[in-house]
Amino acid sequence: MKYYSTRSKTEAVSFSSAALAGLAPDGGLYVPSEIPQYPSAVKTSLKTMSFKDITYETILPWVKDDIKNTDLEDMIHSAYPFDAPVNETGDRFVLELFHGPTAAFKDFGARFMARAFSYLRRGEDKPLKILVATSGDTGGAVADGFFNIEGISVTVLYPKGRVSPLQERQIAGLGNNISALAVEGCFDDCQRLVKQIFQDEEFGRFHNLTSANSINISRLIPQASYYASSAGQLPSSVICVPSGNFGNLTAGLYAYKMGAPINKFIAATNINKTIPEFLESGVYKTRESQITLSNAMDVGAPSNYERMAAHFTLEEMRRLILGTSVSDEETLRTIENVYSMYFYILDPHTAVAWKAADKLKMDGKLSGNNNLIIVSTAHPAKFAETVEPITGSVPLPPSLENVMERKVIAKTIPVELEALRECI
Ligand SMILES: *Cc1c(COP(=O)(O)O)cnc(C)c1O
Repeated sequence: MKYYSTRSKTEAVSFSSAALAGLAPDGGLYVPSEIPQYPSAVKTSLKTMSFKDITYETILPWVKDDIKNTDLEDMIHSAYPFDAPVNETGDRFVLELFHGPTAAFKDFGARFMARAFSYLRRGEDKPLKILVATSGDTGGAVADGFFNIEGISVTVLYPKGRVSPLQERQIAGLGNNISALAVEGCFDDCQRLVKQIFQDEEFGRFHNLTSANSINISRLIPQASYYASSAGQLPSSVICVPSGNFGNLTAGLYAYKMGAPINKFIAATNINKTIPEFLESGVYKTRESQITLSNAMDVGAPSNYERMAAHFTLEEMRRLILGTSVSDEETLRTIENVYSMYFYILDPHTAVAWKAADKLKMDGKLSGNNNLIIVSTAHPAKFAETVEPITGSVPLPPSLENVMERKVIAKTIPVELEALRECI
């Protein structure tokens, strides 16, 4: 399997180079030369296979030139001591992706990426330094994924005072090979600092720096697994994905192309509705991002659009993906309605997906014959400040129970490149 940049088909690289580089040199995202197919024996047994076995079959064809089968098995075994259960609620099924250590779906990508990085760099003695800017969830998943992974250290930049106390402890409470920098600015400032430091190629090479944001292909591939496992249990389903940067939905499209029995997808967004608008008008136009209650989806220029457009024409996307956006007001009302009807607590991101499916049903765009799967990207306890005024106290999942006891150890820095340089 070879990988190309979305911006030029000239240079083919291995999985290893694509993963370790993150972004292609021309600024594009890496995509596979062709999307692999599940063997037919796998396709017919998705219903009965374990989540780990499906994950193995999903990842293998993408990485087999660079990772030995038995090593891949070990990596999957250590990355996923949890799985992705489907919970029937009312007229639909909730695919719960929050049973990992940071209680959000980003654990699926980050934990595989950490093991892949460590494996692909085995034998090299110069430690790798990962820099990542976060508005909250990504930093926690990446920090946790790389915690105690040998030969790799991680520095997470987060906006001081703008992440929740729980998120801050997930980012800055681990210590060891994970350092945290509390930046006296907003998320965009953090992201800009990281971009600026990568522009100095010599500095990057000298310190062996790389990034770990969601454009990395090694974070995307494992995410296709839970689409295949849930579709295996519930064939010809419509899967509704609460989306921001569209990595998760792109992984779903990969599962579909590999042969998972999926009928359609719903691209559910908050008011940052670049993709639903694109599907409607046929014109791709990014917008300034706006702050909402589902803040992990506050993205006006979704980076994975480039991957979607590399694999599908507009007409294909329109046949396969229905788009809808949901307001904060609707999000809150949905959390309330679903709780009062089923005693099931949705986090704000999952509520966006739930409501998006309702709206399409009302418009007659969803047939009743399909199984409807709502992708749940986070545990509601992570967004207690939004959810608890509606539902009362939300019990913490076991993975988060001890997080609040961690001590925050972060260095505060101003929004200055020099200050960041000194910390590396
Ligand atoms: C990151 C995130 C999303 C958006 O996922 P994308 O892959 O960026 O579309 C949705 N919900 C939660 C809870 C997230 O952390």
